Amino acid sequence: MTRLALAFDLGGTELRGALVESGGRVVAQVSAPTMAIAGSDAVIGQIIALAGALLTQRPQADVVGIGIGAPGPLDPKAGIVIAPPTLAGWHDVPLIDILGKHFGLPVRLENDANAAALGEWRFGAGRDRCGHIYHGRRGLAAEIGHMTITGEGDRCFCGAVGCFEAVASGTALGRRATALTAPGDGSLLRRLSADGDVSARHVVEAARAGDISALELIEAEARWLGIGFTNLLHLYSPDLIVMGGGLANGFDLLAPTIRATVEQRAMLAYRDVPIVPAQLGDRAGLIGAASLILWEGEPGAPLAMAQDEDNKDGATELAGARETSHG
Ligand SMILES: [Zn+2]
Repeated sequence: MTRLALAFDLGGTELRGALVESGGRVVAQVSAPTMAIAGSDAVIGQIIALAGALLTQRPQADVVGIGIGAPGPLDPKAGIVIAPPTLAGWHDVPLIDILGKHFGLPVRLENDANAAALGEWRFGAGRDRCGHIYHGRRGLAAEIGHMTITGEGDRCFCGAVGCFEAVASGTALGRRATALTAPGDGSLLRRLSADGDVSARHVVEAARAGDISALELIEAEARWLGIGFTNLLHLYSPDLIVMGGGLANGFDLLAPTIRATVEQRAMLAYRDVPIVPAQLGDRAGLIGAASLILWEGEPGAPLAMAQDEDNKDGATELAGARETSHG
């Protein structure tokens, strides 16, 4: 019988669960709106309920463990979700312990953005590249969304000003488009959003139709992404940058200016690093979380997480640039 992992992608808005085969194929998937302000007990109850729903769909499933991607900061080795700004009432929650006791199965935890990068590395756009997750002290490394790239702008949900994801994310793009337009102004952006708040998806759609203000918003967005990616190139010297998250569907529109900005700003030796779109869409996190369980011990498998933790001085060879899911 095929070995399966229960996988969860815990976001501030949506909690998703899946049963995933060792080849990365999702065989069953469920989701629920995260009870993000109800505290950890309520959300853990949701995880248990979704697991029940998945196992009801596949009663014969040979489930060998549970992999979870959750918002940082978290300690993947100790299995503790420390204090994610997107989930109220979570403070040093020993998630691995709690779920391990409940299900009697091995449980592995990883930062949600890292889980998505793992998914893309093992089954998506980063296949066949060497690498490992760079964890740093307590596994807290590489919260790239919160590196400061400007001294001004909107406040990030983490509390700081000028964070990468506060200026260059799908959320930020939608916010700028909403501020630029007004309900009833007849703009394409507002027509697409039915005079509600404009989202990144609307901006991409309007830009594809040739709308000038949408194209300018995309241009500004791509410049910020290029600045952030240049920082990542200089810090990590990756083989490849994989761009996923809410903006990935506009990758072709963003790519020329991202590339031009990197050409302008990166030192010569870093400029030839490919920047490519993610391939797994919104399943990257689930598939990556499942791989925490299923990948270990497979013949020819690159280093698995457990072995990686001894390698504390290595540089990241895979940088997953993914907007942290908080909206
Ligand atoms: Zn921040």
